[in-house]
Amino acid sequence: MSDNPFVFNVAEALRGDGAPITVTQTGPSPSRIGPVMIALPEGDEVEVEATIIPLGNGVLVDATMRAELTGQCVRCLKTLHPVETVRVEQVFSASDTFITGDDEVDEDLGSGDEIQRVVDDTVDLEQAFVDEAGLNWPFNPTCEPECEGDTDVPAPDGISGEEQDRVDPRWAGLERFL
Ligand SMILES: [Zn+2]
Repeated sequence: MSDNPFVFNVAEALRGDGAPITVTQTGPSPSRIGPVMIALPEGDEVEVEATIIPLGNGVLVDATMRAELTGQCVRCLKTLHPVETVRVEQVFSASDTFITGDDEVDEDLGSGDEIQRVVDDTVDLEQAFVDEAGLNWPFNPTCEPECEGDTDVPAPDGISGEEQDRVDPRWAGLERFL
């Protein structure tokens, strides 16, 4: 049995009475998930709640992951640990006829992407979450509501606001180029 929290067993949904099944799994993330500046680190715990909806020879999985991220404020470089969620919906086919059967799937399920397969009665949501988290989590994370010291930034020693506006004589000759 895999401890991958993104892999769900859908055997019951495929062979059951057609009722949706909701399962929550918790475990270490098999990979780093998120944009460059903030992410769920590989190995950190993530909770994934999935509702598995039977579709005949396939399933629609509606899932939400929740995790504490690790990142850095892009302004003051302080370490951030916000708790974020992201939701995905993905169709998985359990047979080849599922894809060609006209009655089985609406045209606009997914986004024209290739339909994923059920493998050994399991579905893997990792790639769907990687894609969605990359789009939804902040590219430029900052402290909330503001960085420490934001309201009172002292001027460097010995320089008053007035003097800061004056052009350094060494650069005066370059001023016409600015
Ligand atoms: Zn900050």
